[in-house]
Amino acid sequence: AAKAEGGNRACFFEPAMDDKLRARRSLEGDLRQALAAGELAVHFQPQVELGNTRIIGAEALVRWHHPERGAVPPTDFIPLAEDTGLIGTLGEHVLRQACLEAVGWAPLRIAVNVSPLQFRQRDLAETFARILAETGFDPRRLEVEITEGALLQDSEQTLEKLRRLKALGVRIVLDDFGTGYSSLSYLRQFPFDKLKIDSGFVRGMDRSAESAAIIRAVIGLSHSLGIRVNAEGVETSGQLQALRREGCEEAQGYLFGRPMPPREFAALLRDQAVPTLAVAPA
Ligand code: C2E
Ligand code: MG
Ligand code: MG
Ligand code: MG
Repeated sequence: AAKAEGGNRACFFEPAMDDKLRARRSLEGDLRQALAAGELAVHFQPQVELGNTRIIGAEALVRWHHPERGAVPPTDFIPLAEDTGLIGTLGEHVLRQACLEAVGWAPLRIAVNVSPLQFRQRDLAETFARILAETGFDPRRLEVEITEGALLQDSEQTLEKLRRLKALGVRIVLDDFGTGYSSLSYLRQFPFDKLKIDSGFVRGMDRSAESAAIIRAVIGLSHSLGIRVNAEGVETSGQLQALRREGCEEAQGYLFGRPMPPREFAALLRDQAVPTLAVAPA
């Protein structure tokens, strides 16, 4: 009997679990509210052309400043938004904000992230078309970043969705390349315009010969398939030099600038004031 009681106790008195669930519920409520109140912000991180050392684009990244918790990282609340059906609303909000902020920054390109569940929405292309029309943002300046997780579904359906997006004029980017399982077959199967090498490989490249070899192979393969390459998470000038040597077209990372509020990004753009570039010729 004592044993059974002990077993029961485990499920009755598990304050940690209970707290976790409660915290999650309350965060979910707060996210719903923040979305409704338009409190989620979009920041922009510069993307730099390695050939001519200029800012050619920006990735839009959602930011949530919670009134009590402070900054909540997207890696915490994007999964929450996916689980609770809020991801559609969140994605639309980010796209609309990004387009509104960046519409005057032509010819700069803007990249937005689409989570796997958002990608699965039936009317995704229509939603994109509507928001592009509404904001007057030129579709040819828009990039849609998806991860392998979005591609796992039925490949005919996925292909059809990518075609409909591309028909709008937007570019399709494979994000976090190298972190999944079947990257290589995806490159053949789907019409990507660009791939982003995951920061994990970039971080390793001035330390391990393996990472450097993988980066070289990925760049070579991409180029032979007519796909442009962006290296993510560039933090050192050593990484920058190596990527230039390998013929990587563009990069993004703290070396060039962190994600920043629109006004700050606009100032950076005005001055093309990326300090690293001035001291790091090709
Ligand atoms: P991601 O799309 O791969 O975005 C790149 C992440 O790397 C960003 O983190 C960025 O701040 C960070 N990063 C950029 N350069 C560096 C660097 O040099 N060093 C380091 N350590 N980190 C760097 P963030 O903003 O926290 O976003 C994390 C992930 O959350 C994103 O990964 C993306 O998957 C997701 N996410 C962010 N915003 C959105 C959004 O609006 N919608 C969706 N669906 N997902 C988003
Ligand atoms: Mg991304
Ligand atoms: Mg990425
Ligand atoms: Mg990522």
